[in-house]
Amino acid sequence: MSTRIVLATHNSHKVQEFGTIVAATRPDVEVVGYDGPEPVEDGVTFAQNALIKARAAAEHTGLPALADDSGICVDVLGGAPGVFSAYWAGHKKDAAANLELLLDQLSDIVDPHRTAHFVSTIALVIPGGAEHVVEGIWPGRLAAAAAGGGGFGYDPIFIPDGQDAAAERTAAEFSAAEKNAASHRARAFAALVPLLAGL
Ligand code: IMP
Repeated sequence: MSTRIVLATHNSHKVQEFGTIVAATRPDVEVVGYDGPEPVEDGVTFAQNALIKARAAAEHTGLPALADDSGICVDVLGGAPGVFSAYWAGHKKDAAANLELLLDQLSDIVDPHRTAHFVSTIALVIPGGAEHVVEGIWPGRLAAAAAGGGGFGYDPIFIPDGQDAAAERTAAEFSAAEKNAASHRARAFAALVPLLAGL
C-alpha cells in the first residue's frame, strides 16, 4: 500500500520537486499538494515558519507533512533579510525591488565584507508524533551588480563559494542542473533523505 506525504505548498512545481527527491528513497511514498487553510507565518526563524506550515498541513490532513522555508542572510546586516527575504522591499513581494534595495544597502561595503548565505529549512511533522527540522546552507557573497538571467529571487547578486576566482559567476549564471546540485535546497534535501527512510 502506498503512503502519502502532504507538502504544505500550493506551488505544483515544489510538489513535483519534492516528489522526485522522496521517490529516490521511498518509491512507495507519494507527495501530494496541500489545499487547506494557510496559517499565518509569524515565526522569527526559518525553522519556526517551516514548522508552522508543516503542523497546519499535518493537522488538517492527518498525513505526515513537509514544509520548507528559505531566504538569504547577509553577514554585515546581522543575518537580514533572513525570514523577510520575500518581502524585504515591502509586502508586494517584488523580487527585483528586493534585490535593488539589498544592493543599495551594501553600496559602501567592500568585497571581503559582502559574505552571505542562502538557507533552506525543511520541517517534517508526523501527526501525533515526531517533528524534525533539517537545514541546508549555500555560502557565498554578494556581487556589486546583478548578472545572469537564470534562477529567481536574489540569484543574480549571489556568487556561490568554491568557484575559480578568475571566472566567478552568480547563481543566476549557473545552469538549472548546476544550481540544483549545489544549492541550499539540495543540501536540505540531502539531510531529509535519512528521515524519509524511517517513515
Ligand atoms: P520562500 O521559502 O518560498 O518563502 O522564499 C523566500 C525568499 O527567499 C524568496 O522569495 C527569495 O527571495 C529568497 N530565496 C529563497 N531561495 C532562493 C534561491 O534559491 N534563489 C534566490 N532567492 C531565493
